[in-house]
Amino acid sequence: MFHTFLIKYGEIGIKGNNRHVFEDALAKQVRLRLAHVNGEFEIRKERGRIYVECGGGWDEEETVSALTRVFGIVGICPVHTYPLTEIGELRARMVEYVKEEHPDSTASFKVKARRVNKEYPHESMEIDAELGEAILMACPKMHVDVHHPDILFDLEIRDRVYVYSKVIPGPGGMPVGSNGSAMRCLSGGIDSPVAGWMIAKRGVKIDAVYFHAPPYTSERAKQKVIDLAKAVARYTGPIRLHVVNFTDIQLAIYDTCPHEELTIIMRRFMMRIAEHFARKDGDLGIVTGESIGQVASQTMQSLITTNAAVSMPVYRPLIGFDKSEIVDIAKQIDTYETSILPYEDCCTIFVAKHPVTKPVTEIIERSEAKLKGQIEELVETAIRTTETFTVRPE
Ligand code: ATP
Ligand code: MG
Repeated sequence: MFHTFLIKYGEIGIKGNNRHVFEDALAKQVRLRLAHVNGEFEIRKERGRIYVECGGGWDEEETVSALTRVFGIVGICPVHTYPLTEIGELRARMVEYVKEEHPDSTASFKVKARRVNKEYPHESMEIDAELGEAILMACPKMHVDVHHPDILFDLEIRDRVYVYSKVIPGPGGMPVGSNGSAMRCLSGGIDSPVAGWMIAKRGVKIDAVYFHAPPYTSERAKQKVIDLAKAVARYTGPIRLHVVNFTDIQLAIYDTCPHEELTIIMRRFMMRIAEHFARKDGDLGIVTGESIGQVASQTMQSLITTNAAVSMPVYRPLIGFDKSEIVDIAKQIDTYETSILPYEDCCTIFVAKHPVTKPVTEIIERSEAKLKGQIEELVETAIRTTETFTVRPE
């Protein structure tokens, strides 16, 4: 049985010193994730490779499942290691490996050895030929194809011999924390959990803000958002969540502003408060689950007006996605089933029948001006009474 994984990561585009930063960040994320998994793990960085050594009652399925949720990992390879022996003995080990991992195979193959330990008395090509021949003799149904092999036997000759031929796909991306942090506007819908996941996949640590409107929105709606944050935290690690009581702000807008402008004005206040917490948390941007044309508040004109409320960049990773594409990702990352639970959202409570689809920022600002004198205190109170806590993966 193997007890080592070789972690493959996307090296393209990581140059010079950045490579060490990337590797350190990745090793750290692997360590953090495996801290919650049964077993003992040693994470080793060695000449451009990261290895995970597993022991102490570890479970293969659980360990692989945890590793497939670490951004930055492109592939997870179960590795068998053997003592470094003379070539005859190595041939026997290789045959043993093939019979164990690919029993009765009729596939084509290629052996590719890398001699990292230059003291080993055979060159890489010689090792390839020796081991290829040994496999052919022991497994006559297999054949060699050096251009498009079904199975590639990778060997690394180090202080020991490492052999692997299977690659379990990882999520790709970059290690969380290697690209700063951002504030995600998290609702109970399908889109915003996916948006957060996508930004985190690029190495961004995410905080989150949720606006609720009790008693119009229920505790169950809030719990749903916490559950969604938990689901995404399985990929990102702990998420700091701010729960803002938005009721009085919404009521003031409802009482004072034209009803067809309610949603857009409400969204502008959400953005302002999100920006406040983003600055407090040291975040470099705001993330939403908006996509062009999905609803009235997501037309190009509406997005201009929403952006105009804040000076921080607003990132919308789903901007060009169709709903069905977003749903596919939501299913893949296990947020979909929670997202479709039918609890109310504060955005859907005070909606107009015919919301503006092409708002003009100056006109919206004029409507907002009517809130002067009351809204400042309401915003201040909403910020002051915000409940902040950390959501951890289960
Ligand atoms: P989702 O977009 O998450 O599926 P939705 O489609 O119901 O939910 P929209 O009305 O499309 O939400 O809102 C667009 C974006 O605004 C959301 O993706 C989210 O980033 C943000 N947002 C909406 N409602 C809230 C809320 N109650 N709290 C925090 N952010 C919100
Ligand atoms: Mg949406």
